[in-house]
Amino acid sequence: QTESDTDVTALKDFRNTLLGTLLRPGDEGYDEGREVWNGMIDRRPRLISQCAGAADVASSVHFAREHDLEIAVRGGGHNVAGTAVCDDGFVVDLSEMRAVWIDPDARTARVQGGALWGDVDHETQAHGLATTGGVVSHTGVAGLTLGGGIGWLMRKHGLTVDNLRSVDMVTADGEFLRASDHEHPELFWALRGGGGNFGIVTSFEFALHPVGPAVLAGPVFWTANAAAGVLRFYRDFVRDAPDELGTVVKFGTIPPIPVVPEELHWRPAVAVSTCYAGDIEEGKHVLRPLREYGTPLLDLVSRKPYLAHQSGLDSTVLHGWHYYWKSTDLPELSDDLIDVLIDHAFAAESPRSYAVMFHLGGAVSRVPEDATAYAGRNAPHNININGVWRPDEDFAESDTEWTRKFFEALEPHREGVYVNFLGADDGTHRVREAYGERTYRRLADIKAEYDPDNVFHLNQNIEPTP
Ligand code: FAD
Repeated sequence: QTESDTDVTALKDFRNTLLGTLLRPGDEGYDEGREVWNGMIDRRPRLISQCAGAADVASSVHFAREHDLEIAVRGGGHNVAGTAVCDDGFVVDLSEMRAVWIDPDARTARVQGGALWGDVDHETQAHGLATTGGVVSHTGVAGLTLGGGIGWLMRKHGLTVDNLRSVDMVTADGEFLRASDHEHPELFWALRGGGGNFGIVTSFEFALHPVGPAVLAGPVFWTANAAAGVLRFYRDFVRDAPDELGTVVKFGTIPPIPVVPEELHWRPAVAVSTCYAGDIEEGKHVLRPLREYGTPLLDLVSRKPYLAHQSGLDSTVLHGWHYYWKSTDLPELSDDLIDVLIDHAFAAESPRSYAVMFHLGGAVSRVPEDATAYAGRNAPHNININGVWRPDEDFAESDTEWTRKFFEALEPHREGVYVNFLGADDGTHRVREAYGERTYRRLADIKAEYDPDNVFHLNQNIEPTP
């Protein structure tokens, strides 16, 4: 079917039903509208429906289905695989739907389906509240939440999905539906980890917790040569860490940001980034051994607003750069694994490439494995290997290769993967790996009930049980 086949009158009628904007190739705003965070993705949808609200989302689904157009769903547009846009099809774009409403007494937030984490943190922190969100504030709430949601607060307050109370959504038939523990509970189970497979979420309701406004947070850097020792120390340090402490190990170079002295810019280094979301004095005591380990190159741990910490990494992963990812969960930080990490982590050619290893556990691991569709609760760590270069830089080949080789070397030490870290070429077997056989089958049954025709398939796809 070509564009001219799409009935011009039908298109005009459809446009008139929308409160939002409908974009076609050639329209002003079309090229910006098809851009996503990963600058490597260059797709040309036939239509982009920039929805103003749930009604636009529903009529967009009806129109796309009536005209047999493939549907992509866009929240924050951050998925590295670029699943938020498609060639020739119809993008249901929620990026104009970013409102956040707080009920400070009930400690809940209702968040529209196109909001970014920065929007949520901004509104919740005005009340001294927060929920577990991503570590980069320009990431979308929708995609992150539907895949599980890991972040600084997860060890104390659980995954993002552990804080999800209900969702309002539009189904594959274009119908409105609310899912919660009481309404469509089986669907609600699937939405907490099963990704964008089951419908288009127009708003999320989250539980909130008192957080900050100040936290003790920031990275401590050591030279790359010290990394083996740092990792062995870190393994013991986090084993008994309190739930208030979130940490992430970052392998790469020191970013050239204003708080870093110029002579350290781009220096290969290992960093342990921290966020202690609890009593600050207690946090100083907890973090002391880490800050005193060996000879740090730079210690940027300080008391700071939680809001500032949440956006501290934003400038290191800008929109439009090129990104190639591979990721896996890690069951154990063994000595052999540490050797592999040291051998590969600093071998990238692009100074922007890095690997990031999250410490999970705490509240994440205390929720039963089958309570939600998120399947990695028993993994204490995961790692995301991120080849990164600017479009004008010549690292595409070298750093794609670096990412792949690093990932291959992890093979004997790895198991499982977080679905939101899967890349474009990971393939369907890795979606199955993310869920494990049992969870995947349960998801496939629910998919068969709510989306039997696999209308929502531009995602980490779960095929409906035949
Ligand atoms: P989009 O690209 O807009 O959407 C991705 C997919 O989600 C879509 O294809 C669709 O299937 C689905 N989707 C989107 N919106 C909706 C909706 N409203 N209803 C139904 N389905 C929808 N993850 C973490 O858990 N923790 C982190 O700290 C973290 N940090 C990150 C930092 C960066 C810089 C990046 C790029 C990603 C990070 N991620 C993190 C991964 C992130 O969870 C995924 O990239 C996620 O897909 C982003 O969601 P989005 O809405 O921005 O994505």
